[in-house]
Amino acid sequence: MRASSLAGFRRLWPLLKPHRRRLLAGGLCALVAVASFPLLALLAGRLLPAIGAGDFRTVLRSVGLALGLFFLQKLAQFGQDVLLAGPALQVSQDLRRQLFGRLQQLDFSALETLSTGDLTYRLTGDADRVGEVIYKTLHDSIPCVLQLVAVLGLMVWIDWPLALATILLAPLVALLVSAFGARVMAAAERSQTKVSEVASLLGEAITGLPLVRAFAAEPWLQRRFDAEVDLHRRARYETLRLQALQHPVVGFIEAAGILAVLLIGAARIQSGGLSGQGFASFITALLMMIDPISHLTTNYNELQQGQASLNRLRAIEREPVEPPDPPHPQPLNSVRGDLRLEGVSFGYNPAQPVLREIDLWVRPGEVVALVGPSGAGKSTLFSLLLRFNTAQKGRVLLDGQDLADLRARELRQAVALVPQQSSVFSGTVAEAISFGRPASLESIQAAARLANAAGFIEALPESYNSRVEERGANFSGGQLQRLAIARAVLGNPAVLLLDEATSALDAEAEEAVQQGLKQAMRGRTVVVIAHRLSTVQGADRILVLEAGRIVEQGSHGTLMGRGGRYRDLCQRQLIHMDP
Ligand code: ADP
Repeated sequence: MRASSLAGFRRLWPLLKPHRRRLLAGGLCALVAVASFPLLALLAGRLLPAIGAGDFRTVLRSVGLALGLFFLQKLAQFGQDVLLAGPALQVSQDLRRQLFGRLQQLDFSALETLSTGDLTYRLTGDADRVGEVIYKTLHDSIPCVLQLVAVLGLMVWIDWPLALATILLAPLVALLVSAFGARVMAAAERSQTKVSEVASLLGEAITGLPLVRAFAAEPWLQRRFDAEVDLHRRARYETLRLQALQHPVVGFIEAAGILAVLLIGAARIQSGGLSGQGFASFITALLMMIDPISHLTTNYNELQQGQASLNRLRAIEREPVEPPDPPHPQPLNSVRGDLRLEGVSFGYNPAQPVLREIDLWVRPGEVVALVGPSGAGKSTLFSLLLRFNTAQKGRVLLDGQDLADLRARELRQAVALVPQQSSVFSGTVAEAISFGRPASLESIQAAARLANAAGFIEALPESYNSRVEERGANFSGGQLQRLAIARAVLGNPAVLLLDEATSALDAEAEEAVQQGLKQAMRGRTVVVIAHRLSTVQGADRILVLEAGRIVEQGSHGTLMGRGGRYRDLCQRQLIHMDP
């Protein structure tokens, strides 16, 4: 086996280490099972001539002994399989958990470049395959290798010249196996890439189905899907074709090898170097090699495929992650909500700044509305305030403390986001609000009241224990927005970042959301990406952002009077009236 195929798997050893005891016990069972093979071959050496000679007593004794040996062997194999299955499954679970943990830390830019479907496939299909390979290796490949060694040892002991001839034939088989193995692996990798491409197209298609239908683009999507599926079929066929070719070729070589050994054996008996009984044992031992060799061949292919999967899993580990907390983070105590940006410049690509030299001071309790055309950098500014990204120049300060000196977790308790798309996870209503944070029912209820959500929640049959379906499908847009507001205020953050929804709700729902927002904003510093006239009018200050710079600021009245960019935005209806 090529070293590179094993290198990836060797790195899994730390995951196996905690299961040393079970592995050892399973290994002992494997040894017992393996040891029975040469003994059975020796017995066959006695049994076969006895059958020929009609020596019924010897036959009976040998059959009895063989039966006992078989029983022991099967028992040991059962023990081996059961004992080794646990650790193997555990390793694949640990691997999946590790990767999921890594996924949660991935840098947002990295996450955007990986498609959802592809990532899902890696964490399911690829992880399963790796688990399968680990299991196969532990309970099948390793015992097969041991069996080969034991049986070969017996063959050398019986007649070394004959054994030598056999051993010389073996590399021929091995050479063929590895030549094919490399091609199978390349084909398998191509076919797996195709599977995840189909998966990511599917993911896109499912979320984009309304859009597809709206544009009557079904035939186009169907053609794209057909083409992807066809490419996948071809890639898969190539793998299967290679495997199909591999089996007969290897099988034929094996048969020719055995026939050659028979010939040489006959010559050895004729020259008196080998007894008939010894030859019977030798041939039985030789037959006992076929099974493990064929298992190893198949497993080797799977190992190669598993290697491709493991590479794709490991690739996730090479993606950049969110920068870690500083080594000596400063504690963040009772935040007042004083936000400052001092000469902040940032670009996803440093050569193309998205925010340029931003100076801003938002006083505690102030409500600041951010307006500006799409692409101006409003969301990017939010990402800096949450430290999803870090400024390349300048500093962002919360209550005088540089965000870079804080623990991300503490910062994000003090600064809460109400996103534009009010997405919630499935679970109960209470879970949707607490979102993994330890919270009493009272505090959840208080947050819901503040967000003006308590009324509709308490009207649900199971109140706070009612189910929220995936993506909140069983709630209206306005209700989801209020749940998102409750989720944001639960930890009593000093700063609220509000990304106002662009699509308007009907008047009644809008009124309920606005009421919730008004209550949630009270006593907090608020920065809101605003799209509504009522929001900008209610703000203490409006900032107009354009191409990453603050080009105007002031109240609605002053800015309208000035007749600059703000008035322009209002006239172009980028800030619109409420329903
Ligand atoms: P706004 O919220 O005002 O519409 P954004 O902050 O979303 O603007 O975007 C500002 C600019 O940064 C745009 O040119 C956008 O294409 C770019 N941008 C936003 N997010 C990313 C990202 N993750 N990677 C690269 N460029 C981005």
